[in-house]
Amino acid sequence: MNKKVHRDTLIIHEGHDPHDHQDSLAVPLYQTSTYVFPDAATGAARFAGEQEGNIYSRLTNPTVKVLEERIASLEKGAGALAFGSGMAAVSAALVHTTKAGDHILCSRGIYGCTFGLLNIMEEKYGITHDLIPMKSEEEIERHVRPETAVIYVETPVNPTMEVADLRAAVNVARRHGLKVIVDNTFCSPYIQNPIEFGVDFVLHSATKYINGHGDVIAGLLIGADEEEIAKIRMTVQKDYGGIISPFDAWLMIRGLKTLAVRMERHTSNAEAVIGYLKTVPAVREVHYPLDPDHPDVEIAKRQMNAGGGIFSFTLDGGVEEVQIFLDELRLVKLAVSLGDAESLIQHPASMTHSPVPEEERKEMGINDSMIRFSAGLEHPDDIIADLDAAFKALKKRTPATATE
Ligand SMILES: *Cc1c(COP(=O)(O)O)cnc(C)c1O
Repeated sequence: MNKKVHRDTLIIHEGHDPHDHQDSLAVPLYQTSTYVFPDAATGAARFAGEQEGNIYSRLTNPTVKVLEERIASLEKGAGALAFGSGMAAVSAALVHTTKAGDHILCSRGIYGCTFGLLNIMEEKYGITHDLIPMKSEEEIERHVRPETAVIYVETPVNPTMEVADLRAAVNVARRHGLKVIVDNTFCSPYIQNPIEFGVDFVLHSATKYINGHGDVIAGLLIGADEEEIAKIRMTVQKDYGGIISPFDAWLMIRGLKTLAVRMERHTSNAEAVIGYLKTVPAVREVHYPLDPDHPDVEIAKRQMNAGGGIFSFTLDGGVEEVQIFLDELRLVKLAVSLGDAESLIQHPASMTHSPVPEEERKEMGINDSMIRFSAGLEHPDDIIADLDAAFKALKKRTPATATE
């Protein structure tokens, strides 16, 4: 597609020419496991890599191909691969870029299962890691070792909303010949494009904003270099096998079409709810990357073009108060995951981050009264009314702590 059109237009059209598919406006669903070779010589030529064409759906599928081309374009990459989950994309990226004995530098507070994967890699292959805040080149540089191979960045960090500096990570990586991988799930390509900062790979839990409708688990890996992506397709993806199903790719293409309008509403709803929370005496702190009071706001402004739909806040009180508050909510749903049409709320210390030892959790800045919120697409007044009713009930039940 003509790359001069706007991103909002690419989201809808990139990678699909109706005239290649029986003039179908919607991307057709190719629900097939395998493909019929017209003759034996063609089959042999496809296996030899001498002729383009489909062989088997673990390698390529026409529906999946549209999704891959579209996301590559949105992330300003040269190629992309779709996976059956965000974690399959994370593991493919890390398996591709490391070997036994290597070291990985990670931003502090990464996704719980990525943390789990790093521990597996350490136990099985001696691939060690350090979790560090990535706010400056000096800070990152200090932790680089002779065996460091990868800088793995998640920004903003879940659920503290700390921001890592993409430019600093890339500058250090260039000096030492390291690969940089960024988990861009919280921003979606609508808000942040790490490849523009020089990173090598961007990945998504497409389960979240990219699909946006809470009905598919999937992952995407985008590369700045087309050959690297082709290599992963024919090695780690093909042989570990964590591919997406054609139907899930089809749903993903359908969900992705509204990304631009959804991200605008997610962001404005988050801002409206934050504005309300700042007036509530029982709320101690709110963490949102583009909030003027956020300690990393200057870094955030350089790399994010909007604040997005996710923030966290802390209550005056502990686990007991948090549970009373959460149980009073009716419209806002108590659930992990994020980026859906429904507003979702969860308690990291007892839910997503409960596998992280308490000491480490505290070090990451996650305390027992922290709550994570994913603003949905409802009317903002209704979200606020639900929260307000829960705060009033909390105050009634705990008059000593929730002062007004
Ligand atoms: C959800 C999530 C993942 C894992 O993705 P799945 O699709 O659940 O496998 C990875 N990183 C972040 C930041 C996430 O929020």
